[in-house]
Amino acid sequence: MLNKIISEHHIQQAKKLIEKYDKIVIVTHVSPDGDAIGSSLAMYHFLLELGKSVNVLVPNNFPGFLKWMSGAKDIVVGEWKPALADELIQSAELIFCLDFNIPKRSGDLGARVEKSSAKKIMIDHHPEPGDFCDITISHPEISSTSELIFRFICRMGMFDDFTRTCAECIYTGMMTDTGSFTYNSNDPHIYYIISELLEKGMDKDVVYDRVYNHCSEGKLRLQGYVLYEKMKIYERYHAALIVLSHEEQQRFQWKRGDTEGLVNMPLSIDGIYFSVFIREEENMIKLSFRSKGAFPSNQFASDVFQGGGHLNASGGEFYGTLDEAVAKFETALLNYKGLADEK
Ligand code: 5GP
Ligand code: MN
Repeated sequence: MLNKIISEHHIQQAKKLIEKYDKIVIVTHVSPDGDAIGSSLAMYHFLLELGKSVNVLVPNNFPGFLKWMSGAKDIVVGEWKPALADELIQSAELIFCLDFNIPKRSGDLGARVEKSSAKKIMIDHHPEPGDFCDITISHPEISSTSELIFRFICRMGMFDDFTRTCAECIYTGMMTDTGSFTYNSNDPHIYYIISELLEKGMDKDVVYDRVYNHCSEGKLRLQGYVLYEKMKIYERYHAALIVLSHEEQQRFQWKRGDTEGLVNMPLSIDGIYFSVFIREEENMIKLSFRSKGAFPSNQFASDVFQGGGHLNASGGEFYGTLDEAVAKFETALLNYKGLADEK
């Protein structure tokens, strides 16, 4: 039996809203990852089964390695179709906010969602959820939003109607948010859930293959280049930094998703506990932070770059040049408590 995480009160409240409303929109965070797309599409399939009119809306494009998922081609990308995105949010009666905790994390869509008169249900696992939804199902102790969606659907009494397609979406999110079950993945219930997903006919090896083994040649060569030429180690600070300019991304035909996971690699070096990846985007600098053990990467992200996220995986943005972002990072690193060895 699966333990109960989501409160009965929240389940009953959500049930009422789902029964009452037909026009439903599912929204997730900017630069959607496996958990964002997995949880959104699982919820999409679940609501379609209930006969609802439902749309998944993402602020910007998502990686090609998630496009095999059933329903992915129906996802509306707000950046490409702003008028349609507006119309969907305006006519929605119920909005699910999945895998993000504050409106800003959903980019341009966030403010529109916040203003909308639709009822809102948040299902998420990021710390410190904002107060903008009618029902806030927030569980930072759970390693993925996709796992929460599985728990949510079961508690709705719909496990028997759960399809293989839904199982694949849930598994994708659980797998990608735990580094294929290598971190945040000691809760035995995770494996109970996986066994239930397998019972639904899902092939977990196929899901892994689709996500990780269909990349471009450029992506692999970029990894080689970055690790060989671009990784800087700050030994005394147990930290690593990778910086990637716009020009370098062009050189390797960078596409969204091509640098995902790169920031984790330096953590495999003995003695490195903090890894940072700084990438130049069109109109801002994007930062990714990862840590091992107790060092709070999210605290660093928030202290230095007004960002946030989980203890061991977080991010932030910087508005300025790449060099300025790097300088800001280095200054902060050299003065940050809890990283440097004693002299
Ligand atoms: P990634 O490095 O994969 O882009 O992001 C890792 C995690 O950091 C995300 O799951 C999200 O929780 C958080 N995150 C990434 N970028 C930002 C940001 O700009 N602001 C905040 N608050 N969190 C972020
Ligand atoms: Mn997530």
